[in-house]
Amino acid sequence: MAATLMDGAGLAARIRAELEDEVVELGEVGLATVLVGDEPASHIYIRRKHEAAGEVGIQAVDHRLPEDTPEVDVLELVRALNEDDTVDGILVQTPLPPQIDEPRVMRAIDPVKDVDGLHPFNAGQLYLGRQTLVPATPLGVMMLLEEYRIPLAGQRAAVIGRSALVGKPTAMLLLQANATVTICHSRTDDLARQTLDADIVVAAVGVPGLITPDMVKEGATVVDVGINRTDAGLVGDVARDVAEVAAHLSPVPGGVGPMTIAALLGNALRAARYRRGALAFPRV
Ligand code: NAP
Repeated sequence: MAATLMDGAGLAARIRAELEDEVVELGEVGLATVLVGDEPASHIYIRRKHEAAGEVGIQAVDHRLPEDTPEVDVLELVRALNEDDTVDGILVQTPLPPQIDEPRVMRAIDPVKDVDGLHPFNAGQLYLGRQTLVPATPLGVMMLLEEYRIPLAGQRAAVIGRSALVGKPTAMLLLQANATVTICHSRTDDLARQTLDADIVVAAVGVPGLITPDMVKEGATVVDVGINRTDAGLVGDVARDVAEVAAHLSPVPGGVGPMTIAALLGNALRAARYRRGALAFPRV
């Protein structure tokens, strides 16, 4: 069997076209990004996010701070962005340099502007099954699964990776869609035993080619979130020949990556709706 490749690039382009119309309806939508330091991958991600935001008419403002910026300065900038009425969404690119306490910065973001969904309020809402702003990559994964009409209710899903940004929120969304979810991580004993049992495998690890064909059930859906820069170019966490076993496979590049950016822009519009009262944001 040759798997159907899940075309994230194509779906993301369609979503962006829809978002463009929604931005026109909403009027101005503002997204502020904060990048601290020199991490090359972060610079690429921020550039892509700005290009995509510009394409759909979102006003994106790029704040860059040097690597040695003290935490207090980052917190001050976040507070200023919270107060700025032209800013609907705030995204602080991670990882942050070691002198900065990442969770503290996330907690400083006004939850209604938290387009990365990393504030404990938004993470807690997802945990409670009352989602507000949810991290973009897991949303992108779910949109891909929906587009290809992958059944989730009653199905077994194995999520590999338990980060706050990808693994855990993806597991929560799959659980909410009534899948039976197993979360795997670096201490999981016999990973293949978990993945072989799964109808849906989501790999969010950062180890090139970790998932091999012998670890995948015939006809399963495999979503590859991994982005690994190797001598052979950009590769995912899933070996290419998994396509001979899986029924659906998301490619790298062109799978989850573009979906993440589309979902982030969707979150900026969601934040704008919350702020304009078009959607109710739960406040204490
Ligand atoms: P992360 O914070 O480093 O988390 C990696 C997770 O993988 C951890 O939970 C870790 O387990 C687990 N892990 C590591 N080695 C493992 C192994 N051998 N077997 C099973 N689990 C293992 O990374 P992340 O931010 O979640 O990102 C994961 C990958 O997705 C990276 O390649 C990243 O570049 C990519 N990514 C892609 C997008 C996109 O848009 N496509 C967006 C975000 C991230 P422990 O918890 O036990 O350490």
